[in-house]
Order: sequence, then C-alpha cells, then structure tokens
Amino acid sequence: MRLTLAEKKKLLLEELRDEAINDENLLAVLETIPREDFIPKALRAQAYENAALPINSGQTISQPYIVAYMTQVLEVTNKHKVLEVGTGSGYQAAVLAKLCRRLFTIERHLPLLNAAEVIFKKLNLYNVTTLFGNGMKGWPEQAPFDRIMVTAASEEIPEKLLEQLKDGGIMVIPIGIQGEIQYMIRIIRNGDDYERQEMLPVKFVPLLSGIVHDS
Ligand code: SAH
Repeated sequence: MRLTLAEKKKLLLEELRDEAINDENLLAVLETIPREDFIPKALRAQAYENAALPINSGQTISQPYIVAYMTQVLEVTNKHKVLEVGTGSGYQAAVLAKLCRRLFTIERHLPLLNAAEVIFKKLNLYNVTTLFGNGMKGWPEQAPFDRIMVTAASEEIPEKLLEQLKDGGIMVIPIGIQGEIQYMIRIIRNGDDYERQEMLPVKFVPLLSGIVHDS
C-alpha cells in the first residue's frame, strides 16, 4: 500500500514517541515542519523515513530521531538564544527556531546556506540569522548563547564554543574520529566547570575549518 507523506509523517512521529521522544512541544514542532522541503526533490518520498539522507555539497540531513533527540536533550525554551553550527539543509535550524527566541546558524558551504535561507523565508522563520563562515570560531558578536548545537563531528570540542556558552548553558556536540564510533556529548556549563555527559553513539559528517563558495 502506498502511503501519503502525511500518513508517513504520522507513523514517524509514533516511532519517535516509542523511542522516548516525549517533549510535546517538540513533537508538535516536528509535526508542523515539512521535512520534504529540505531534501532533494528525487528523495521526497523518503522524507519521513527515520533515516539520514544526502543533500548537496556531499553533506547529509540528519536522521529524524537524531534531530529529535539532540533537540530534546538541549532543553530549549522560548527565552533562549541558540547557536547552531552546521546549517546544512536547514531542517534542524527550523526545528530549533520554532522552539527558541532567536536562532543563529553558521554554515561553511555557501550554496547550502543560500538554499536554507529560501526555505526559512518560505516557512516564515524570521527569528533565524545566518552566517557563512567557520562555525568552530562560534559567533563572538552574538555570544553568549544559552544553548549551542553542533551538527558535525569533531575530535575535540572547539574552545571558542565553550567560551561562548552562557553560564548554566547547555551544548550538544558529536565527538569522535571519522570512521570510528562518535558519541553525542552534552556539556553543561557551571562557571568554569564544564560537566560532560556521554549520550549515545552517532555518525556525523566532519566539522571542518575553511569555507566553500561553490559545489
Ligand atoms: N543540521 C543539518 C545537518 C547538516 S550536516 C541539517 O539539519 O541538515 C552538517 C553540516 O555542517 C554540513 O552542512 C557541513 O557543511 C557543516 N559544517 C561542517 N563543518 C562546519 C564548520 N566548521 N562551520 C560551519 N558548518 C560546518
């Protein structure tokens, strides 16, 4: 039987609930955002499969479960100023923007950022501000942030991002070497102390320095 996208979305949301995604605000946001708008046309039928999918510039849109999980453990509220590193398709940014006060998102591939900006406009997400640059440096002019989410894997936590996290703030970041097991790490800042919690094994594209104008 061929299911419509709406039917597939409903099943995906049920699957996420079964996987302990129980934040009702977050589930409502996932229901409103059209994931099919963020992926290449040829893959639209797969928009509500619980899988990562390829996007342009050799990058990926994260698996819906991982987007939901990272967002849930970040504990975002509508008072928060949030930084995302790795805009990619813009899907995770859209989810965060619906939950927070202001979202700042940085991408090192210009074509991806341009495409994401078009969708932010289409979805009336006016609290998103974008930057073409190397997110490892954070966004000093906008710091500090209540929450930081990094959506590309790094061997080490970039020092600048730790500095730009507000006291009491939370950061989630995948840590590990490419091709080896990476872990989603949650960091909670308490003054000069950064509590580090290992969450779950993940697989992310690498966090790289430098910027890419085309391809
Ligand atoms: N959050 C994205 C996930 C995209 S994959 C989504 O929902 O689709 C990770 C993204 O991080 C890629 O687009 C990659 O180009 C970007 N990236 C990697 N290193 C980066 C860096 N140093 N600064 C900014 N973006 C980076």
